[in-house]
Amino acid sequence: MTQHLQITKAQTLKEKPEVAGIPFGSYFTDHMFSMDYSAELGWHNAAIVPYAPFEISPSAQALHYGQTVFEGMKAYNVNGEVILFRPDENFKRLNRSLERMSMPKVDGDFALRALTELLKLEHDWVPDGEGQALYVRPIVFANEAYLGIRPAKSYKMLIVLSPVAGYYGAQLNPTSIFVEDTYVRAVRGGVGEAKFAGNYAASLTAQQKANDLGYEQVLWLDGVHQEYVEEVGSMNIFFVRNGELVTPELNGSILPGITRKSLITLAKELGYNVVEERIHIDDVEKGIKDGSITEVFGAGTAAVVSPVGIMNIHGTDYRINGNEIGEVTQKLYDQLTGIQTCKLEDKQGWVYQ
Ligand code: PMP
Repeated sequence: MTQHLQITKAQTLKEKPEVAGIPFGSYFTDHMFSMDYSAELGWHNAAIVPYAPFEISPSAQALHYGQTVFEGMKAYNVNGEVILFRPDENFKRLNRSLERMSMPKVDGDFALRALTELLKLEHDWVPDGEGQALYVRPIVFANEAYLGIRPAKSYKMLIVLSPVAGYYGAQLNPTSIFVEDTYVRAVRGGVGEAKFAGNYAASLTAQQKANDLGYEQVLWLDGVHQEYVEEVGSMNIFFVRNGELVTPELNGSILPGITRKSLITLAKELGYNVVEERIHIDDVEKGIKDGSITEVFGAGTAAVVSPVGIMNIHGTDYRINGNEIGEVTQKLYDQLTGIQTCKLEDKQGWVYQ
């Protein structure tokens, strides 16, 4: 599918905010990418247009039945050059999410080219401070005005951009997590492995509960037995157990993170044994008690790596590695951020310029 990309520049440009300290996802750049889908024309109207509100029918199917999927990645400013990290993986995952929600797939190569054009136009919005980036948010939703329950016949895709501050200050900060045993995020056979908007709505009650109890993030257990570890907040989870890196196997209800996939590759390269398996929460508790589990961390685009310092398992608080950042966690963080900022060699060809 070769498509023409129409570019309409904004008449006036916004004042750029001081990125340090701004809340995540609260400022948007001057332009966005937009594309429409209809059953007759397929994907069409690909355009870069001024960022602005648009009309949507009150009967748009996405508002009623939730056919909405999205993606998240970051553009980094490396000495004035704008780079992306494995963006092809994000568009592949977008297509898997679209397929799961009975929505039409997009041409990933074309979407990436359109994003590249958008980033050229918004070059000055890509911040260059420590840890700062321009967050890239592709979204696809059903905009057909129809209240019957069936896949919609028309959709819109947008890509909006938002400058984001560094997640951490000078160093990684351990978080506290609450093992949730009432609510579940996803079930096998459901939509957990899709980046489907409803998964995030469904997580809010448990997130609020964890916050109210004094913890920063939720650790999700599986939706059937409520015994096996799945994810932490909107990150994948890793354990360092007897010097090996252990993470839950992808089982259909876990989102296959691109950070997760990258860390597995890097850890193997650094000589660690990596195990993907079903992990029982009781074994985690035992492992923390007997000292075989020495480090726990979350992995995702937002924070890259997020060490877990305190974990509440069924009512008991456990401190992990004395609530300090572990050696393996730090090493993997340095390695991945080093590649993302072009300070370390990109052996795998992950950096996209
Ligand atoms: N799990 C969930 C539920 C997420 O929303 C994310 C963020 N996309 C991740 C894991 C981590 O994925 P990635 O490394 O691709 O950001």
